[in-house]
Amino acid sequence: MTAELQKVEIPPQLTVRELAEDLNVSPIAVIKELMNNGIMASINQMIDFDTAAIVGEEMGFEVVPVQEEEPEPAAELEKAVSLRHQFIENEDPANLEPRPPVVTILGHVDHGKTTLLDTIRHTSVVSGEAGGITQHIGSYQVVVDDRKITFLDTPGHEAFTAMRARGAMVTDLVILIVAADDGVMPQTKEAIGHARAAGVPIIVAINKIDKPNANIEKVKQDLANEGLVPDDWGGDTVCVPISALNNIGIDDLLENILLAVEVAELKANPNRPAQGTVIEGKLDEKRGVVANLLVQNGTLKQGDLIVIGTQYGRVRAMFNDRGQKIKKAGPSMPVSTLGMPEVPQAGEIFEAVKNKKAAEALVEEHLQEAQTSRTQARAPMSLEDFLTRLEGEEVKELNLIVKADVHGSLEPIINSLQTLGDEQHKVHIVLQGTGNISESDITLAVASNAIVVGFNVSVDEAARRTAELEKVEVRLYRVIYKLIEDIDLALKGLYEPVYEDRVIGHAEVRATFKVGRRTIAGSYVTAGKFTRHANVRVVRDRELLYTGEVSTLKRFTEDVEEVAAGYECGISVEGFDDFQVGDILEAFVRERVN
Ligand code: GDP
Repeated sequence: MTAELQKVEIPPQLTVRELAEDLNVSPIAVIKELMNNGIMASINQMIDFDTAAIVGEEMGFEVVPVQEEEPEPAAELEKAVSLRHQFIENEDPANLEPRPPVVTILGHVDHGKTTLLDTIRHTSVVSGEAGGITQHIGSYQVVVDDRKITFLDTPGHEAFTAMRARGAMVTDLVILIVAADDGVMPQTKEAIGHARAAGVPIIVAINKIDKPNANIEKVKQDLANEGLVPDDWGGDTVCVPISALNNIGIDDLLENILLAVEVAELKANPNRPAQGTVIEGKLDEKRGVVANLLVQNGTLKQGDLIVIGTQYGRVRAMFNDRGQKIKKAGPSMPVSTLGMPEVPQAGEIFEAVKNKKAAEALVEEHLQEAQTSRTQARAPMSLEDFLTRLEGEEVKELNLIVKADVHGSLEPIINSLQTLGDEQHKVHIVLQGTGNISESDITLAVASNAIVVGFNVSVDEAARRTAELEKVEVRLYRVIYKLIEDIDLALKGLYEPVYEDRVIGHAEVRATFKVGRRTIAGSYVTAGKFTRHANVRVVRDRELLYTGEVSTLKRFTEDVEEVAAGYECGISVEGFDDFQVGDILEAFVRERVN
């Protein structure tokens, strides 16, 4: 009697690893069996059903095809694709055609971003067009196996996130470059945070493998610690060892890019007026305003009228990344254009329109939008209104960027933060890291609507200015439990800001006079200062008579913002006209202390 063979269901295609898992044997055993059959395969190599069946049967299994459902694209990719829909959401799917992916390279300084961009560019020039002198236009296209890939060639996550903060979403995939002799460094972690916050999938290029002290395994360990588990460790992060300098592994990297984006089905409608994003804008002495654009939907043609923000102009001339004059550019194609009246900013959206009337109408619309956003101001996320801001959303996530002085304090903070909340109220750590709060932290906060919390760190000057301008809430703590408590209260909707009064100056009333129905206190500032926006306590014979806001503050007949000690001024106080000579005025401001 022969033992019944164990039945195993196998999909039409699978990797060696997956086959080993399905058969419940070691991948090495599968690789050996493949070798016996003359097939040299690596662990992540795809094999087809027939090959898998031969291996399986030789190993004593009965192999049958599985009725595979359409494979779900990875959640990450799905998210990235939905972001990409900013231009094509209203398109009829019937009009959509595949477009090349747009890739950004991020990583720690000196890990080889620029070298990799150069190597890719010079080894994979668009076929048949070689020989042209490459032009820096902020992005370029290469051809791999007859398929195009567009690289944004402004490395650095600041540029990446600055663009995103302006609402532009151009990247489909991030290549995270990590030097094998250095491992995961602070900016590598930042880059991971930025890519994750954008919902863009990551492929890792482990660079400088030619160096004698290269340690690929250590890089993989570092990556796994950051939640990017390499595929040969059983995770789903593709890691490709390369030497950007010596052109090793670059083809493999490009192949992997194409594989990764295949599932995302990147599409656009080439048969409509162009839409896309400004990659760079500059003023050229000879040629005037140069706007380097990435077409994301439609086709841009020479002579098209385009609107960028509140300006419009005709595309007088158009060049590709090799400086060649071109007449039209389809989706994912980077172009350099001449003809705009003003230098546009990176991250601004451009749109081609039919005629001048349509251009003017769109400009008017943008002006109106700018007007409303100025008057309403961007509504930033803040601790106190966290719950109200997310009214109606099923899961309310408080996005945080957490910076601490040392790793030893960061870890307990993150661990405690992650235990807060419940199913519906959660903390989402967009980025964690050590060091002062930088401008790039703030741009990331803008882009991901996050609050920045710092523990025993300070805020860089540029970061402080940007935070003020963009109204990003930055909170600094010296006590861990206080930090955790505030976030906990915010999640529970109990967070109440605490205000304290701070006295800023004293004055003595030396004369009073009437102007219309109001009484002005002619006063002498004895200490500190008085300001236009301060509150005032009126004290007579050590008794508090009245508290109110300054309504006018004058030196002689001039309205002034503030008056310092040693000067005289005229003060009137909202709702109070009963000043007497000898009254003491105390100016104070209300300040938030938590
Ligand atoms: P970036 O700051 O990330 O743009 O890094 P760069 O591309 O400027 O590279 C920093 C340094 O590393 C330069 O001196 C490069 O020549 C060197 N470098 C880049 N890639 C490799 C590589 O694969 N092997 C070696 N040995 N050096 C490399």
